[in-house]
Order: sequence, then C-alpha cells, then structure tokens
Amino acid sequence: MSDADTATQEGARDFIRDIVRADLAAGDAETVVTRFPPEPNGYLHLGHAKSMCLNFGIAREFGGRCHLRFDDTNPVKEEHEYIQAIQEDVRWMGFDWGQYLYHASDHFETLYAWAEHLIGAGRAYVDDLSPEEIRAHRGTLTEPGRDSPYREREPEESLELFRRMRAGEFPDGARVLRAKIDMASGNMNLRDPVIYRILHVHHPRTGDAWRIYPTYDFAHGQSDAIEGVTHSLCTLEFADHRPLYDWLIENLPVPAVPRQTEFARLNLAYTVLSKRRLIQLVEGGHVSGWDDPRMPTLRGLRRRGFPPAAIRDFCRRIGIAKADNLVEVALLEHCARELLNKTAERRMAVLDPLKVVIENYPEGEGETLRAINNPEDAAAGSREVPFTRELYIEAADFMEEPPKKFFRLAPGREVRLRYAYFITCREAVKDANGKIVELRCTYDPETRGGDAPDGRRVKGTLHWVSAQHAVPAEVRLYDHLFTKPVPGADGDVLDDLNPESLTVLVNCRLEPSLAEAAPGVPLQFERQGYFAPDPDSTPSHLVFNRTVALRDSWAKIKRRGG
Ligand code: ATP
Ligand code: MG
Repeated sequence: MSDADTATQEGARDFIRDIVRADLAAGDAETVVTRFPPEPNGYLHLGHAKSMCLNFGIAREFGGRCHLRFDDTNPVKEEHEYIQAIQEDVRWMGFDWGQYLYHASDHFETLYAWAEHLIGAGRAYVDDLSPEEIRAHRGTLTEPGRDSPYREREPEESLELFRRMRAGEFPDGARVLRAKIDMASGNMNLRDPVIYRILHVHHPRTGDAWRIYPTYDFAHGQSDAIEGVTHSLCTLEFADHRPLYDWLIENLPVPAVPRQTEFARLNLAYTVLSKRRLIQLVEGGHVSGWDDPRMPTLRGLRRRGFPPAAIRDFCRRIGIAKADNLVEVALLEHCARELLNKTAERRMAVLDPLKVVIENYPEGEGETLRAINNPEDAAAGSREVPFTRELYIEAADFMEEPPKKFFRLAPGREVRLRYAYFITCREAVKDANGKIVELRCTYDPETRGGDAPDGRRVKGTLHWVSAQHAVPAEVRLYDHLFTKPVPGADGDVLDDLNPESLTVLVNCRLEPSLAEAAPGVPLQFERQGYFAPDPDSTPSHLVFNRTVALRDSWAKIKRRGG
C-alpha cells in the first residue's frame, strides 16, 4: 500500500474504529487483533474488499495484526483452487497477514475437544432425528420449537455416540450433535443449533481424517478465541448469531474472549455480490469466467484494469456504517479515474477509424512528433509518434452537416491534430452507398506541434494515428452486467442480465507504442478513457479492455445533488 493512501486510511473514522480506540484506551485489549475470514468456496469480490480494508486497515492503523483465516468447515463446496486464489487476491489488494495464516481446520482437534466438553457438562447431545424431523421440530418465528425425544439423553450415551460418529460408524445425516440451549427461544439460532454433522467427504486440507465436521456457527467464534482475535468484525446478518456465539464462549474453556461487532455489507447497484450468484453466472456461461471484466470479483476488476489503490479508495469513501444502502458503481469508476488521471500515461488510439489523406503532405515521407506522456506528471516524459500523409481519425469526429455545438471536423473546417498540425477538411469521399470512407484534407506546415504562429485558433483537437504505422487491435467496452439497480428484485436475476454489457470493437487502430503495452498497466487513450491490455492479448492480436470512460457520471450525480 502506498504511503499516500495509508495516510488517508488513517484519517478514517467510523463507529468500529471508535470502539477499537475506546477498548485500547480502557486497556480491554493490549493489541488489536482482527481477522479476514473468507470461506474458500469462490473468488473474492468487492464486498470482501470492504471487509479486508476494514480488518487489515484497523490492524495497521492501531499497530495490531490481522489474520487471514479460511473458514473451511464445509468441504462439500470448498476447493483448493479457491484457497490459492484468495491469497493472491488479498496480496494484490496490498494486504499482508504475515505469519498469521489460519484455517478453521487447524482448530478441528480443539473444537472436537470442546464439543466433548459441552456434552460432559450436559450442554450438548447427540440427536438421532433426521434433518427433516429436526426442521419440523424447530418451530417458526411465532411458534416455539419442540424438544427432540433425544434431548434428555445421558451425557455418557451422547459421548459414546459422538465418538462413534467421529469414527465414521454412521452414514451422513444419521445423527448430529446439538447444543442444548432453548427450544422456545425467540432467537431461532438458540433453538438447540446443530454444531456437528456427519459428512463422509474428503476435506481439501484434512483429507479423510474427519467424518464429522463442525458447523460454521460452532467453528467461527471459537476460532476467533483460539487465535486471540480481539475484534471480530462481521456483516449484519450475523447479529442474530451473536447470542449463540456468546453462549458458546461462556460455556467453553476458551483462552480469550473476542468481541463481535456487525456492520452493513456492501451492496452495489447493477451488480450481484454473493458467491452463490456469481457461481451461477460462471457455471451458466453468462460470463466468460470468474475474471470476466464485467464481474465484481477482484479478478474481474484486475483484468479490467482497476488498480487496487482505486478499490481501497472506494472502500474508504463508502465507509463503515450500521445501515444497509446501495452504492453506485459510478463511485468506484470515479475513484479509478481520479487515480489514473494522475498515474496513467496517455496514448492515441482510434477505436472507429476513418481515413484522412493530407493532400499537400509529400507522398512517401513522414516525420516524428513529440507527444507528452502525462500532463499531470512531468516525470513521465514524452514519446515519439509518427506522422504521415495518411492518417486515421475517429469516425465520430467528422460530420458532414455539423450541428451548432459540434466543434470537430466538417467540410471546410480547420481543427488541430494533437501534437501535430492544423488540418482543414476539403472533401468527404463516399462509397456507392453514400457512406463516408475517406476525408481529403490539407495541413498548414506552419502549425507543427499544434500551434499557429499567427495566433489563429481552432476549437477542436482530435487524436489520430498514422495509417501506415498504426497497429490493429481489438478493444472491449463494458457496461453494467445487469439492467436493474437491484438485479432479481422482482423475479429471476438472470432475466435482468444486460444483453449489451459487452461491446467488442475489432477494427481499432492504435499508435505503434501500444504494441508494447505492458500487461496490467493501465493507460489513457486520449479523449476516450482508461484502458488496460487484456490477458488474451498477443503480439499478433492486441486486445485492450476499457476500464472506465473519461466522462465522469459520478461527478454529474454529485452535481445533481444525488
Ligand atoms: P457471499 O455472500 O459472497 O458468499 P460470504 O459472507 O459468504 O459472502 P465469506 O467468504 O464467508 O463470504 O466472507 C468473508 C468475509 O467477507 C466475511 O467477514 C464477510 O462478512 C465479508 N463479506 C462478504 N461479503 C461482503 C459484503 N458484500 N460486504 C462486506 N463484507 C462482506
Ligand atoms: Mg459464506
């Protein structure tokens, strides 16, 4: 993480940082210890970035540490591939867990011993009811649950059965271990929740050592306690689970007591942020993969060209609160633009080419002109661009009958070619269908570099490339993946997919230096936006993704007072 954004992060204030500050001041914690606890059942997305910025951010600001812990309690859906990818993505975001890499599965032996402890204390029992029966006994929000006939089973009998469950003597679903709390509780989570289930499934880390696995609810708080996590920060949907976590902590010989605080999860307009939904998009072939540049995954954002610092800035700006809200994608794009404006080098690229012939420029000749790499950063220097008699400009930069405010090229009109010359359009050449296929222009040799010695002015400045030197490329433009701010709000999410979320331009012409564009380094295509080479790009077939367009819809939203 750069010094610049460490400084801005440190200015962050929110109710969770206030709690941490107060706990440290009161001596309730010596060192703040947080954790980022992904379940390895998919790739990380922007919601996880929010959680990471909070957890790693607090650890950094208060001189503590943040653990990376994989909540790998559900071997049915978890894969090794995800464990690797998540670590890469956390590092890419600029965060470092140092030596503090954990897995809930590291704690399986301790968790098992604590389950036996609960049984011995008469606070857990083995239940022989089937999953359906357990559900039927659970009651509803308005009706209390009913006791299982096995609830009063002797601890000795439960203990023996639990050990046999561990030994693999029973099939999946035959028995479970439940905490004995309160079947009439108004909080469904306290109605004797299942804390262990039988699963004859290979685990990515523990292999076939276990035939029973703790539930997430049993593993999570206890893992925090084992690791000495002081502040366990999670999203609001876990507020209802907190009484259960507290009950478990009170009834177990834990070495430390973590404090759970909930915050609102990130909801992003025109996007889904749930691994279950994202998997659906990947498996249904609605996107090209987890790293499709339209996906809100960190992989997708990276491929699209979003720098991690822009994502951190976004997380800082959305802040941390207790109330749910819907965040505009435009804010993320605004953060990217602000950063890239300062850091991205400028290049000229014509996405929809129209041929220009400079009639008075000598045939077969050419010259190189100097172009500034980044007007915001003098250290970025300059580069050479070739200029010749035949050029390409953007088709949209010419109009035969221009309306009033169109200041670009038109018959008889003079404009500046950026870093080059003033040119005047003499004639638009059309094909048999009346389509404009070429412009015949003249240039003023006195205006080399883009300024007229006689002080005359032009209103338009266009980007261009030399036809002979330009490199062909494919450019991919992206729009929201969904057409509705809350996809699936009134029906199937898939019905709200945006059929126009991807536009592929196959006939683009780029200035020659772009043939060497480095992977992962975003560039500004002048007047168009920020672009980054796609991993599909090869020397013989260049492919660029548009990260964001230059036009800032967030600034517009702000002006409207939105
Ligand atoms: P998903 O719904 O995408 O599956 P999850 O909560 O199941 O998300 P986990 O891998 O269990 O995902 O989450 C790891 C951490 O990231 C948790 O602390 C979780 O609260 C947090 N997190 C997940 N999604 C968001 C979100 N949209 N906003 C903020 N934090 C989130
Ligand atoms: Mg989850």
